[in-house]
Amino acid sequence: MFEDFFSRDITFVKNVGPQRAELLQSELRIFTVRDLLEYFPLRYEDRSRFYKVSDLKSSMGSVQCLGELREMRECQSRKGKRYLRAQFFDETGSLDLVWFKGLAYVKRSLKSGVRYVLFGSPDLFQGVLSVSHPELVEEDLFQKNIRGALQPVYRTTQRLTQKRFYSKVFEKIFSNIFKEISQSLPETLPGYILQKRKFISYGEALRQVHFPESEELLEKALFRFKFEELFYLQLHILSEYQVKSGESKGFVFAHVGEKFMAVYDSLPFSLTGAQKRVIREIRHDFRSALHSNRLLQGDVGSGKTLVSLLLMLIATDNGYQSCLMAPTEILAQQHRDTFSSFLKGKNVRMELLTGSTKESERRLLLEDLSKGLIDILIGTHALIEDRVVFKNLGFAVIDEQHRFGVMQRAKLWKKNTLPPHIMVMTATPIPRTLAMTLYGDLNVSVIDELPPGRKPVKTFHVYENQRKRVIDFLKKEMEKGQQVYVVFPLIYESESLSYKNLEEGVKDLRRELGKGNYEMSVLHGQMKTEEKEESMRRFVSGESQIMVATTVIEVGVNVPNASVMLIESAERFGLSQLHQLRGRVGRGADQSFCILMTDYKLSADSRKRMETMVATTDGFEIAEADLRLRGPGDMQSTRQSGMPFELKVSNLQRDFSVLEMARKEAKELLKSDPYFRNPLHLVVRKEMERRYKQSQGWGRIS
Ligand code: ADP
Ligand code: MG
Repeated sequence: MFEDFFSRDITFVKNVGPQRAELLQSELRIFTVRDLLEYFPLRYEDRSRFYKVSDLKSSMGSVQCLGELREMRECQSRKGKRYLRAQFFDETGSLDLVWFKGLAYVKRSLKSGVRYVLFGSPDLFQGVLSVSHPELVEEDLFQKNIRGALQPVYRTTQRLTQKRFYSKVFEKIFSNIFKEISQSLPETLPGYILQKRKFISYGEALRQVHFPESEELLEKALFRFKFEELFYLQLHILSEYQVKSGESKGFVFAHVGEKFMAVYDSLPFSLTGAQKRVIREIRHDFRSALHSNRLLQGDVGSGKTLVSLLLMLIATDNGYQSCLMAPTEILAQQHRDTFSSFLKGKNVRMELLTGSTKESERRLLLEDLSKGLIDILIGTHALIEDRVVFKNLGFAVIDEQHRFGVMQRAKLWKKNTLPPHIMVMTATPIPRTLAMTLYGDLNVSVIDELPPGRKPVKTFHVYENQRKRVIDFLKKEMEKGQQVYVVFPLIYESESLSYKNLEEGVKDLRRELGKGNYEMSVLHGQMKTEEKEESMRRFVSGESQIMVATTVIEVGVNVPNASVMLIESAERFGLSQLHQLRGRVGRGADQSFCILMTDYKLSADSRKRMETMVATTDGFEIAEADLRLRGPGDMQSTRQSGMPFELKVSNLQRDFSVLEMARKEAKELLKSDPYFRNPLHLVVRKEMERRYKQSQGWGRIS
C-alpha cells in the first residue's frame, strides 16, 4: 500500500488538484507523490537571526529585521509609473521599502505605526538602500507562525509564479501530506546499511528536509539523501562495468599504415606534445588485444577532434571501420566538412548519417556500410539505430559525451562481435580521481596543451547600460572583417519563452546595428533542421557576419573568423556553459573577445561566476569553481554542468567523502550479490529500476 501511496498521482493530493498538478508536471516534472516528496528546498532561510537596520548593506542577500512601518505614500517614476514607498524604522535607523505591483493590496493590508518583522533583500534603488516587495509579518503573528529557525525555500519557475504558486504553497502541501502520513514511510536503502552507517530512516529524513527541527537534524537528513543518491549512482556505474569486464578482449590494430601516415604528413601544422602523447596512449590500447574504453578530456579547441580522426585512420589501416557520433546535426556536419579537407585525395571513404539523411540515400549508405565500403561514418544518434549495421566496426568515438547516456554507449558495443574500442571526448574537465570514480571503467587521457599561437580570449563583464558601447564594438570588429556571435539564454522554465527572448533580441539587434549593413544568421532549437543548416552554412561561409543563437551553438562549432562572443543575460548561464560558449571564439589568429552582459542586479553567485570567467580561461580552474559554487538541490546548475547525469542533493566536490563511502558500499554489495537476488536487496532492485529506468536491461547487455 505504500507503493500505492508513493506512486499516487499528485492530482489527488490535498491542495494540489488538476490545475496545480498540470503546472507541477509540465514545469518541474513532478508526477507522483514520491516525486513531490523528493522535491527538496533550494535553500533555507535563517529566520532566527535579526539584523539592525544600520547594519544592512546592498547585495547581502535576504535579511530579517524588526521595526515599525511609517509614512506609506504613492509616488510616480519619471516614466509615469506609480509605485508605493514606505519607511521602516528601528532604533538604529530607517530603510526604504518599495512596491511596484499590487499597490492596492499592499495599501490595504499594511498599517503605519505597527511593528513588523521584515524579510527581504536590501539593494540600492535610486541611490537609496531599499527593500522591494518585502515580506512583512506583524510582530505578534510572527511569534505564533514561524515554526523554526530554518525556513525552506522551494524553487519555482516563472510560470508557477504567474499562477501564484509560490514557495509557500509547497510548504502548505507538504504540511498536509505529512499530516496524512501517520505510518512511517517505506525505506529506500537496505536495512543493514542504515544500521551500519547510523542513518536516519527515509521518512524521518524527508520530514527533516521539509520541516527541519534543527540544523543538526537537517544535516543528518541531507547526508542520508546524498549517500543514497551517490550509492545508487555508483551501483549503476559499477554494475555496467561488472557486466562488461567479463569480456574485456578487444580487436587488435597492430600497425600504423599508409592512410594514417598520408594524413599525418599532410597536416598544415605539427601536433602538440599532448596530442602526440594521447595518440601514443591509445595506440598502446589498440595493440594490446584488450578492449579500450577511454575518456579523452581536453579544453575546447585543444584538438581532440583531429586526434580522433587520426585514430580512426589507424582503424582503417587495420581493416576496421570506425564511427564518430556527435550530439547535434550541425556538429556532425562540421566534423564531416573538416575531415573532408584533411582526407582529400587520401582514398578514405567517409559518409554522414543523420536524422535528416533522405531515405533513398540512407538505404544506399547502409548497404555500402554493411558491405564494408565505408571506412568512417559520422553522424548523430542515428548511428546507433538497429538498422545501422557495420561490416566490421572497430572503433567508435563519441563527441561531447554529456549528451549521451550509458545506454547509448552500450548500444555501440553491440555493433560487432567484440565491442569496438570506444573513445569518449569531452571538454568538461573534471579532476582525474573524480573521473575514475564517476566513469568507473573508463581510462582517462588528457590533452592539456593548446595549439601554439592561440591568443587567450579577452573577457569582459559589462552591464546592460553599456549596451551602446558594446554594439559599437561589435560594429568595429565586423568592419575589420570579423564575425560575431550573440547568444541568448535558453530559459529553463519554458521553451517558448526562450524563443521569444531570442526573437526580441534579434529585433533589438537589427535596430541597434542599423539596417542593411550586416547579414545576420539566426539559430535556435525550434527551427527545422534545414533552416538550421542553412543558417549555419551562411555563417560558416562568411555570408553572414552575425550569428544570433540560443545555446544550441554551445558545443563544438568551429568558425575561426569569429572573434567576438557576446553573451546576453550571462547571469542565466552556468560556468561550464559560459566556458563552452567562450570556446567558440579564439580559434583564429586574431585577438578574440568574450563579452558577458548582465543585469545590474546580480546575486552573489552570479557575480562570482562573472568574476571567474574574467579571471581565467583555464577549463580546469573553471570546472573547480563551478563545483564549488553549486549548492545542494541546485538542479538547474547540475543540468548545466555537463555531467552525464543529474545530481539533486550532492555536490561532487564538497561531498567527495560521501561519494567514497557510497562507492565502498556499492562495491561490497555487488560483490556479494551482483544481481540483487538476496531478499535483503529487494529494495535495491526496486530503486535501481525506478532511478535508472532506461537501463532496466543492463543485466542483459552483452
Ligand atoms: P576540439 O575538438 O578539442 O575542440 P578541434 O580538434 O576542433 O578541437 O581543433 C580546433 C582547431 O584547432 C581546428 O581548427 C583544428 O584544425 C586546429 N588544430 C588542432 N590541432 C592543432 C595543432 N596541433 N596545431 C594547430 N592547430 C590545430
Ligand atoms: Mg570539439
